[in-house]
Amino acid sequence: ATPTAVMVGTGVGASQGVLIKGGHALENTHKVNCVVFDKTGTLTMGAPVVVNVNLLRDINIQEFTSLVAAAEVNSEHPLAKAIIEYAKKCWQQEEKNESSSPIWPEVRDFEAITGQGVKAVVRGREVLIGNKSLMLDHSVDITTDVEEKLKEAERLAQTGILISFDRELHGILVVSDPLKPGAREAISILKSMKISSMIMTGDNLGTANAIAKEVGIDVVFAEAKPQDKAQKVKELQAAGNVVAMVGDGINDSPALVAADVGIAIGAGTDIAIEAADVVLMKSNLEDVITAIDLSRKTFWRIR
Ligand code: ADP
Ligand code: MG
Repeated sequence: ATPTAVMVGTGVGASQGVLIKGGHALENTHKVNCVVFDKTGTLTMGAPVVVNVNLLRDINIQEFTSLVAAAEVNSEHPLAKAIIEYAKKCWQQEEKNESSSPIWPEVRDFEAITGQGVKAVVRGREVLIGNKSLMLDHSVDITTDVEEKLKEAERLAQTGILISFDRELHGILVVSDPLKPGAREAISILKSMKISSMIMTGDNLGTANAIAKEVGIDVVFAEAKPQDKAQKVKELQAAGNVVAMVGDGINDSPALVAADVGIAIGAGTDIAIEAADVVLMKSNLEDVITAIDLSRKTFWRIR
């Protein structure tokens, strides 16, 4: 393609809310035969809500949610926002005051553990919030009853978040994050273009499978840490694929860099947007197809 054609292509993209960072990005996009989607915030709204709570010890719900909210205050994860929102509601219910804002207990030693959850000390107690792998890494015992509850959530495409105080499991928060409108449609259009799709997520396999089924994807790579995501992209490339990775989080940025075309969701984190070659300003998955179409039009015309 001529430099002018490339300029026109990126210009048309920009006017449609698809930011393509230069000629190389535009050129690589039409070669893509495999699109890897992150789950949370990419295929799903990324605006999860707590739909259920299971207390496993004799603890007051407000005390429980206060400790949990305090530990999550410094997290940027969408799950943290959902949890704090829920804690706020519990607090307001207890105070019988819907407009007052709670003050959470003080936090020490906050640590975000990528792909697993958070760890902090609140009121002298070590609070862990996250998935099974976080609990196992900290030798927190998980009963078969809790396993059963996690599986039940997974079957419903929901995520069970475990909470331990001083290495003892105290509760499960069940969180639901609905699919983005248009997600299913985008996957089906890609299929008709002979482009395969897969899910790659830090979330557990059960939830990932349930989401995959809803959206029409057959290949699932779950419980992936950020480096695993990048590694998987490289494996796909080694097998001869030209890979686009679509993601929104810090945890996606190594994979966005590794991919032939890194595509960031505009509503995502700055780090993902920086790492990407293409940014979907409307955070709309159909725009993956807009980008591919533009690239095809630009590079297929002049051959
Ligand atoms: P995804 O790839 O789906 O965006 P992440 O890699 O960000 O997922 O997180 C993987 C899992 O780690 C989440 O599904 C959740 O169980 C747990 N997790 C991560 N951050 C938090 C947090 N701030 N609070 C609770 N759980 C978390
Ligand atoms: Mg994400």
